[in-house]
Amino acid sequence: MILNKFIRHRQLLVVFIILFVFSSCEKDPITLVMHDPIYPSSSDLVTYTVKKATSGSINSANLYEQVGTINSSGAITSAGTEILINSWTSPSGDLSFTKSSALGTNKLVTYRWEITTPEQTKSFTVTYATRPYPVTDMPAPVYCQGDPDDVFDLIFIPDTDITNLNTFYDHCKGAVEEAFFDEPHTRFWRRQYNYYINPERGTATDYDNIGVDGLHQVPSNNANLTFAEGRVLMHQNNLRDYASGGLFSTEMQNRGTILHESGHSLYSLADEYAGGAHWEETDFPNNWATLSGAQAAGNDYGSCKSSSDASEMGSSGWYDLCVTTCQMEATGLNHTEYDCPCRYRITYTVFDNAIN
Ligand SMILES: [Zn+2]
Repeated sequence: MILNKFIRHRQLLVVFIILFVFSSCEKDPITLVMHDPIYPSSSDLVTYTVKKATSGSINSANLYEQVGTINSSGAITSAGTEILINSWTSPSGDLSFTKSSALGTNKLVTYRWEITTPEQTKSFTVTYATRPYPVTDMPAPVYCQGDPDDVFDLIFIPDTDITNLNTFYDHCKGAVEEAFFDEPHTRFWRRQYNYYINPERGTATDYDNIGVDGLHQVPSNNANLTFAEGRVLMHQNNLRDYASGGLFSTEMQNRGTILHESGHSLYSLADEYAGGAHWEETDFPNNWATLSGAQAAGNDYGSCKSSSDASEMGSSGWYDLCVTTCQMEATGLNHTEYDCPCRYRITYTVFDNAIN
């Protein structure tokens, strides 16, 4: 017991140190890199952008691109070479560059931004595929940054109710930009995510109609998707969302719901509303089974929390420390933010995922 407590405090200390080192790492402006469309057809002209999420200037920037070719078994038949496609000197505002030629079929594209600010030079490397993705029954990478073993993998699955797939693709990009890039803590860890779009559809059902309609129908290639920590079934009609069969559902435009449900599937965060799903994780939980447990943990978050923040969620018999606006208490169109116990859990899972 004492050893356990020692180990957990040591882990906390390690995370504190790492957080300090990393949080002092990226200087302003925080830069968000994107391509549009996120899943371009072979004839689309792709635009590459850098958006400044915080104020500050960019001294110079270089944009490189490497276009490879893949076949139906996923083998790279031509690797291509990295080419400088545009550069900027003392640009004002955000950066944007639209290609003058389309990429063609069966392409796997990797682009790299090298951005020099007054205090540092930073580099972002992103890989995406063109549509249709030729690899049989596999989800297409649309914004990939790391080894799938080391980072979070999230697969967007279109529902059979979606009438315009281009709208769905735009909402996949919206989920990345307006949810994960916008919530401060997931933005801080934005390099730790790979995003994919599935070629096969699933069908979401309403939680209140499961008795009639059954559970979510998974896509036919669902067995190929188990490598991903998150599988999200994005639908058009209004439904009461839930998770089953390894995937969770959301209206495709709901940035709050996708962050809340990702809280469960990527970081094993529990609900913070009475009547939700409650459990206590061994490491950095956001729910506690006892009031005394929550009060003791209240002292572990510096000035962010104190033991007096511990309270019961309704009459559930479960306790939490987060504010009522924490993302694990909210779903819907707009996202909120994760409060600090949830942020600690997210940071812990980032490292756990990268190390194990
Ligand atoms: Zn929380």
